[in-house]
Amino acid sequence: MMAAQHPRPYNFSAGPATLPEPVLREAAAEMLDWHGSGMGVMEMSHRGKEFMQIAEAAERDLRELLAVPSNFRILFMQGGGLGENAIVPLNLAQRRPDARVDFVLTGSWSRKSCVEARKYADVGIAAGTDRGPAPSSVPAAGMLKLRDGLSYVHICSNETIDGLEWAELPDLAALGCDAPLVVDCSSHILSRPMDWSRIGLAFAGAQKNIGPAGLTLVFVRDDLLGHAMAHCPTAFDYRVVAENGSMYNTPPTYAIYIAGLVFQWVKREGGVAEMQRRAVERSTMLYTALDASEIYRTTVDSGSRSRMNVPFFLRDGSLDDAFLAGARERGLLQLKGHKSVGGMRASLYNAMPLDGVRSLVTYLQEFAARHG
Ligand code: PMP
Repeated sequence: MMAAQHPRPYNFSAGPATLPEPVLREAAAEMLDWHGSGMGVMEMSHRGKEFMQIAEAAERDLRELLAVPSNFRILFMQGGGLGENAIVPLNLAQRRPDARVDFVLTGSWSRKSCVEARKYADVGIAAGTDRGPAPSSVPAAGMLKLRDGLSYVHICSNETIDGLEWAELPDLAALGCDAPLVVDCSSHILSRPMDWSRIGLAFAGAQKNIGPAGLTLVFVRDDLLGHAMAHCPTAFDYRVVAENGSMYNTPPTYAIYIAGLVFQWVKREGGVAEMQRRAVERSTMLYTALDASEIYRTTVDSGSRSRMNVPFFLRDGSLDDAFLAGARERGLLQLKGHKSVGGMRASLYNAMPLDGVRSLVTYLQEFAARHG
């Protein structure tokens, strides 16, 4: 009989982040021998029948979970979100000769994307500014100042550092804009359905809601393939990657395998609708506790608050170290905010159990009672 397992601490890291425990156990059990093949997944040829089976199942399950239409390709790539900041303009900016692209700036990640795109495109800012503190809300769609003849429009649908989330994607067509919307959904993918009718391309690093770092998912509409600039690296040309079933070069095989196990876990748990319900439940519980105490401060307006990444600040910053040390003692890990903004951040990804949030809320209340 297995010895009783000591419960693992709750890990609030923004990414790489906590993964579902059943997935980690399954991967551990299969580490040396996957399904009687005599090989661990890391040791398999990416072109062998065993790994092909793993990759095909992962793609099929992801397509089903997010209801990805048949005119979108799912690509398993490398380079992370920051890689995509270059790979997207290298592939899409020259769809139109002026290589004009507009960005909506809602925080750190959209700003980073914008800076990188300037190397490849004529960049405009449709809303927001590229300096100073992040805004406290995402702009209303009607406020976007979009130029004519754009190759695409870029948004970050969940700002991991600043804690802003678009409740709804902008409908560019309704704004009279015929350009495709590019969405960096790295930090909330699989936590809610995606409205493909409003999306041309979406990308996400895997290391938050999906699996290990090293895998990047790209969803690209068929008509956006085949526009890469001549100097785009071949391994990053979406058309080449799509035509080769994400195996033009060796894909991150182990990360794809873990992602596949996570997709199966999400399906078993009730799919994306259930992930969304849990995300609302977790984040509401935490924001309610933060709002109830004078000693904590949040910066995002209620309509734009992220359900995945909750930055918060102690009004008395000299208590930060004591707060973090007390949290660690209670098995509440990685709550330190991003270095660029300071304070705290609790990331509440799909794998975070509600009990983790309950424990954090209890701690927030205890700490406030002691220091309020
Ligand atoms: N975009 C968003 C929204 C992110 O949260 C991150 C990473 N935290 C990135 C891009 C960059 O991803 P990577 O480090 O994998 O390049």
